[in-house]
Amino acid sequence: MSDTSHLLDPTLAQQLLGAAREVAAHAYAPYSRFRVGAALLFDDGHITTGCNVENVSFGLTSCAERNALFRAVSERGAAHRIVAIAVTNLNDAASPPCGACRQVMSEFVTPSAVIVFPGDAGIEIRSFAELLPFSFHLETK
Ligand SMILES: [Zn+2]
Repeated sequence: MSDTSHLLDPTLAQQLLGAAREVAAHAYAPYSRFRVGAALLFDDGHITTGCNVENVSFGLTSCAERNALFRAVSERGAAHRIVAIAVTNLNDAASPPCGACRQVMSEFVTPSAVIVFPGDAGIEIRSFAELLPFSFHLETK
């Protein structure tokens, strides 16, 4: 792991990855067998987790990151903001969040939010802004 301690405390990063790994065991992935878990750390210290849930109609599959976010909003409302997102899988594969999840999470992250995930060369810790530099925002005139 490169020195990314300025972005996120390494101990906290490992804690979040552990929570994500734990919930990945609940994934419903009979088609891809790619079991993913996500852990979202909110600005009040609360952590919400989620796993991927597939469907035989593949387009209806929902990612771990979005399931975690929707769970968090369902349980606690939308007042809190995400400061860190951890995503991992039980397949020992690189798994940065997909584009759809990045867009959905963009409405709930703090400006300094970070993402932790397994990359091709080990654990990556990146700023959310780096992963989604031009998110869609609704602006009307
Ligand atoms: Zn996704």
